[in-house]
Amino acid sequence: MWQEMNKPKMATEKGASRVLMLLGQLERLNEEPKVSDTDATRQITGKILHIIQTQEKTRKEVMSKGSSGMDVILSTLENTGDLQTTLNVLSILNELLTVGGGRRTGVFVSKGGTAILLQLLVSSSKDPLNEELMLHIHTLLFKVGPKDRKFGVKARLNGALNVTVNQAKHNLQNHKLLLPCLQVLRVYSGNLVNAVSLGKSGALELMFEIIGPFSKKSTTLLKVALDTLAALLKSKMNARWAVDRGYIPTLLAIYQDWHRNDTRHRHMIIRKSILGCIKNLTNIKLGRKAFIDANGMRILYNTSTECLPVRTLDPLVNTSSLIMRKCFPKNRLPLPTIKSVYQYPLPRILAGGPVAQLYSLPPGVDDVVDESDENEATEVDTENDTENEDDETGHKTQNDDIETDINKLRPRQMQSRPFDELRVYERFCLEFTQYFKDNDFQSPGSVMPPSSFDPNRHHPLIIPTTQNRRPKNIQPPRSNDSPLELDSISISKTLEGKPNPDLACSLGQLVLDGDVSVNGESGDGPQEESGDQAVIEVPDTAALLPLHDPDLYLEMVKGTRSVPAYTEVAYPDYFGHVALNLREPILERAYGVQRTKIFQDIERLIHPSDILDRVVYDLDNQSCPILDNGESLKFNSKFESGNLRKAIQIRKFEYDLILNSDINSNHYHQWFYFEVGNMRPGVRYRFNIINCEKSNSQFNYGMQVLMYSVQEAINGSPQWVRTGSDICYYKNHFSRSSIAAGGQKGKSYFSMTFTVTFQQKDDVCYFAYHYPYTYSTLKMHLQKLSGLCTSEIYYRQDELCETLGGNSCPLLTITAMPESSSNEHISQFRSRPVVFLSSRVHPGETNSSWVMKGSLEFLMSSSPQAQSLRESYIFKIIPMLNPDGVINGNHRCSLSGEDLNRQWQNPNAELHPTIYHAKSLLQYLRATGRTPLVFCDYHGHSRKKNVFMYGCSVKETVWQTNVNTSNCDLHEDLGYRTLPKLLSQMAPAFSLSSCSFVVERSKEATARVVVWREIGVQRSYTMESTLCGCDQGKYKGLQIGTRELEEMGAQFCVGLLRLRRFTTPLELHNHNSHLLDMENDLKDPRSIPNITSPTTYVLEEDEPAFLEEVDYSAESNDENDPDFEPDLQDNRVLPDPSSDSELSRQDSLT
Ligand SMILES: [Zn+2]
Repeated sequence: MWQEMNKPKMATEKGASRVLMLLGQLERLNEEPKVSDTDATRQITGKILHIIQTQEKTRKEVMSKGSSGMDVILSTLENTGDLQTTLNVLSILNELLTVGGGRRTGVFVSKGGTAILLQLLVSSSKDPLNEELMLHIHTLLFKVGPKDRKFGVKARLNGALNVTVNQAKHNLQNHKLLLPCLQVLRVYSGNLVNAVSLGKSGALELMFEIIGPFSKKSTTLLKVALDTLAALLKSKMNARWAVDRGYIPTLLAIYQDWHRNDTRHRHMIIRKSILGCIKNLTNIKLGRKAFIDANGMRILYNTSTECLPVRTLDPLVNTSSLIMRKCFPKNRLPLPTIKSVYQYPLPRILAGGPVAQLYSLPPGVDDVVDESDENEATEVDTENDTENEDDETGHKTQNDDIETDINKLRPRQMQSRPFDELRVYERFCLEFTQYFKDNDFQSPGSVMPPSSFDPNRHHPLIIPTTQNRRPKNIQPPRSNDSPLELDSISISKTLEGKPNPDLACSLGQLVLDGDVSVNGESGDGPQEESGDQAVIEVPDTAALLPLHDPDLYLEMVKGTRSVPAYTEVAYPDYFGHVALNLREPILERAYGVQRTKIFQDIERLIHPSDILDRVVYDLDNQSCPILDNGESLKFNSKFESGNLRKAIQIRKFEYDLILNSDINSNHYHQWFYFEVGNMRPGVRYRFNIINCEKSNSQFNYGMQVLMYSVQEAINGSPQWVRTGSDICYYKNHFSRSSIAAGGQKGKSYFSMTFTVTFQQKDDVCYFAYHYPYTYSTLKMHLQKLSGLCTSEIYYRQDELCETLGGNSCPLLTITAMPESSSNEHISQFRSRPVVFLSSRVHPGETNSSWVMKGSLEFLMSSSPQAQSLRESYIFKIIPMLNPDGVINGNHRCSLSGEDLNRQWQNPNAELHPTIYHAKSLLQYLRATGRTPLVFCDYHGHSRKKNVFMYGCSVKETVWQTNVNTSNCDLHEDLGYRTLPKLLSQMAPAFSLSSCSFVVERSKEATARVVVWREIGVQRSYTMESTLCGCDQGKYKGLQIGTRELEEMGAQFCVGLLRLRRFTTPLELHNHNSHLLDMENDLKDPRSIPNITSPTTYVLEEDEPAFLEEVDYSAESNDENDPDFEPDLQDNRVLPDPSSDSELSRQDSLT
């Protein structure tokens, strides 16, 4: 075939085709081998070599597309037994593959060249040694190996590994041959199985003979030997062997020697390679111990400190810091237990459930041992073969979570509870049955117990102070000469002015007793008698904050039941928060911040005497002395949604903070809310929250913490402000045991660090993860909203149920009153589609409450749009699905210690009452033919920017999995895309490209998926709002604030109004024709972005790497950490072409 295709070409082309002619001759010789032809072959190959060496264009001819020159050459190499011919052919190949980059080598590999070369290597090793032949073969192998994915396997199977090792061993002084042998060894050892085998053949000793102290000679050789060593040390077996032989101190000594002598930094890459070996050795426990014993921490710390000023040495500093962090002894958190300080007795504990497991843990279980590398007995290296292809494994990890079971994807109307049981939910849907009389058009309002709230009262608030025993009237603000002495707002102390002897008495009881009116009595005599109260005027924020009222807030607090029986109220919740007018840009990350922070952490180990380690706040030890030495900050978070557990002063102006776990759990911490006092203005304080859990955070991408200054509030700016500098989020040296982590390998914690300079003297400041929004705030807002009700609005507030903690879960019904009691109007009223909204199932996602506030305010507003929205739908809204979690400062769970948004498949009436009743109400609606048109659960997202939605689509899920493509013809209404598309056109913070409509297995018990699958709501969504800010649209580059969140909630409502036009085809003729076009546009699959490759399956993180190339998460002992997964693929890591070019540049300099 080759002949037929190419002969004409060869014959017709003149002149330049001499090389092709020769190849043709060579081919004929290959086909009819005769002994006498050896000379001819030798001659022809010699001529070809000569032409190729002298005329560059002939190389192109041989390698041109359609030419089969390579076949002929390889065939000659394979068949000839003649040494000279072999050398000629090897030289020809060498010339051909030297230029032309990967394509030529690719042709060589695809034609089976690698195997031919390896066989030649093995067979030549049996003959008396020919140095030139060995040199040629290894040079070629080194060219080819990195381009052949299966090179390592092929080399092993052909028995080539030992041949190369032996060649290297016997030519230690012969650098000309040694170098290509080492280069090939380096490629071999990129495969772990090979690494083990090479280790057994003495390759490690060999490398240690070559590497050594500083020298200007043979740096290329040295570099290759070090890289080979590093690759070999990826095998744990090899690493153990090397540690046993004491190689860690040797490598450290070599590193120091190079550090001292390479003063002009010409050999940075060699120094980095030495660190690369140490890095791999310290992947095993034994190695880390040897590193510590060899004083490795101090050595790398000191060398790194000296490298810091030279920016080009960053890679050394970064690798050193990586090693030091890995070897930093793992500590348990300084707590008696990582279980929550608070326990809440549950009505029942499901056997085998998380709470049962939590409380059956043996004592001392938190203790951390260095767990990685425990299975010394099994050498996994040898068991794993390396046949898997890169892309296979890549795909698997990405698609693991996507639902592939088509039956699970198909929405199915599940058998719900019998209708007789559901009938009780009729009381939440009175609008469907209610009888309206003409003169009785009163909105039903609240069916909750009325509050004793009196909006006209405006009493001064009592501020108890600890420092003044005399009653004292604090002057209104702005009198700088009499500094305020602020302490917490306390409810219990206002009880007849006597300190409450029984602090355990819950606030709920106060309300139940019904005889305490905190505000009514607080300003009177008893307070003065108690002698530790001061009076302060409340700043008048009524004009700025129409839905806020401090007195009403306190009123609400009294009815809120918390597990710790909080008696204090945080100022920000009391004063309220006014949205800022100024823009708060996303913080640009300063270069080197993380590194500096990490080095400060490492100094704790290296200079332990500098560390104060003074506990200044401790929930576990209520008698923890409050130091009043003027030196330490004062912390507090014993108020609603607060969750600081412990504060430890590390240095004069640095504090480690530990957050409390969610109640009945031993983890879930990310949310924080606490108070700080006794600060010195103008000083930089560093705060480290040391038990964060997520592996990355928007704090690495420009998000700042929120701070509220009470002094500022009193001075007329009651607001949460983004603050803090030097913010970063990284894995630290604290971890928990695998048992405490629920069977996972010991999990490391993360530090979120930020630095703040306080402006005011004698201030009290609050810090929060995001804008707080307490349950009492919700109740206050609802109370205020109900006051906005007009005769046009149908507003009803029911109690969906009582929570485990004894708090009410409000359910709102909002729609328009029927126009009249005429049959037509009543029928229109009752036939409005239902929109079901919920929020705040995750307590730490306070942004979802602000979005909900925006929706509610819009729905209650007097605008024509709001009225027409009310006339279009009946809204059923559960604004807080997890009140107990919110009240008690949880991040994720309810009092049952579980994530309520994973309970929707099978909610338990006792343990998950809000979910159980919300789902039942949805089942009732479906059973009565009122399946909601839209369901949306508002959430917050900690790792992404913008606002976006998750929905459910069978097709888009199937597309993601690339399987079952035969099912792609299934019909699916694209209506689920309309609302997100509309929102992306209207709401500036909303980003369509971040939306996803894929059904994941891990989300099968969430509200979105269950309401879609079981209730049959096609437009079932999770709406995620960023905690950080936006990277597109009008707010691009800005952090998000409450104004933007509330706007999003309002825009969501406007989106629903527009959606109405797409969901009632009969009414379409009433609207402009362009709307029709728009509908077509919206539903046309071609207009859907990514429809052919719907990459809307959103991975957890989509942030670009930041400038500072320091791992924020990788360095750890966690073997399940993907970054530490041994590289089982052939040649993926080695050799690094960039380092090669660097190397040659370095060499040419010396
Ligand atoms: Zn959430």
